[in-house]
Amino acid sequence: MSFFNKIIVAIVQMMPKAMVGFFSKRYIAGETLDSAIKMVKSLNEKGIYATIDVLGESVKNKEEAVEAKNKALEVLNTIETEKLKANLSIKPTQMGLSIDKDFAFNQIKELVEKAKQLNNFVRIDMEDSPYTDATINLYKKLIENYDNVGIVVQAYLKRTFDDVVLLNKLGTNYRLCKGIYIEPASIAYKDREKVRENYLKVLELMLKSGNYVGIATHDDYLINSAKKMIEQLNVPKDKYEFQMLLGVREDRRDKTNSEGYKIRIYVPFGKDWYPYSVRRLKENPQIAGYIFKSLFTAK
Ligand SMILES: Cc1cc2nc3c(=O)[nH]c(=O)nc-3n(C[C@H](O)[C@H](O)[C@H](O)COP(=O)(O)OP(=O)(O)OC[C@H]3O[C@@H](n4cnc5c(N)ncnc54)[C@H](O)[C@@H]3O)c2cc1C
Repeated sequence: MSFFNKIIVAIVQMMPKAMVGFFSKRYIAGETLDSAIKMVKSLNEKGIYATIDVLGESVKNKEEAVEAKNKALEVLNTIETEKLKANLSIKPTQMGLSIDKDFAFNQIKELVEKAKQLNNFVRIDMEDSPYTDATINLYKKLIENYDNVGIVVQAYLKRTFDDVVLLNKLGTNYRLCKGIYIEPASIAYKDREKVRENYLKVLELMLKSGNYVGIATHDDYLINSAKKMIEQLNVPKDKYEFQMLLGVREDRRDKTNSEGYKIRIYVPFGKDWYPYSVRRLKENPQIAGYIFKSLFTAK
């Protein structure tokens, strides 16, 4: 990370909450499910799919985890009643993974079961490395009985290639992303080029296996390389989609959509928008630079 970027990251962390809220509006549908529905409808009208995330991360107790699961159930029911082209994304720690693994498993199972009844799908987001094994394990247990659940893997983790070799055998439905958390160099690639290289190596392994892949990136180099790979390997259209975050690279999103590729947008909503927003602001030097300027230039 450059010296300038380190300063930006430090500043984003020190920013007052209201300021983070102001600059992160573009990344979040709003605080209510209604706002998410509106957003998804406007994307669906353009032929774009969505995955809805109720914002919130590690919960403090089982009551909070149950509350989070109930909100997620409400999302699944609403997708059905509003006839949205959308599925659900969830974070394992929000379902209680850091409190009790079996409890979290049962919570997520309930969501996957509900999604199954509604002919829908649940994507399990991947969080930081203390939860990688536990997340993969609960996913493995789920797919013994369900085919409407998928997992996320992170290209910055050195273990990911080996994980995918095993997960491929289980018919895994993937989202492949670079990874957003700060991980030690002993387990994660730190160099941007190395992460890209591993992303493409892992993507090739997934596509060749015939499993479904959500190619989640805003990186032009990776998007273009993925398109070439899809063409070279002659991957059928029903085996992949592109995925992006709400509010990020909308130009590229619309271009990919107009080229006829299936694309899905991650649409987060809810009251717990703060940690999500800080992560998004940290990865966007342009906006962070603007904040930097507004903090230090004359009024
Ligand atoms: C659908 C989806 C789901 C994800 N789920 C997970 C998950 O479960 N676990 C996990 O660890 N990570 C997840 N991520 C985040 C991911 O790991 C990356 O951190 C994030 O996508 C940035 O990497 P990138 O590949 O887009 O490349 P980057 O090199 O970071 O970005 C490429 C370009 O996109 C633009 N850009 C990137 N971020 C922003 C931003 N915030 N605002 C404006 N412009 C921006 C910039 O122009 C940048 O040059 C997800 C990402 C997506 C798209």
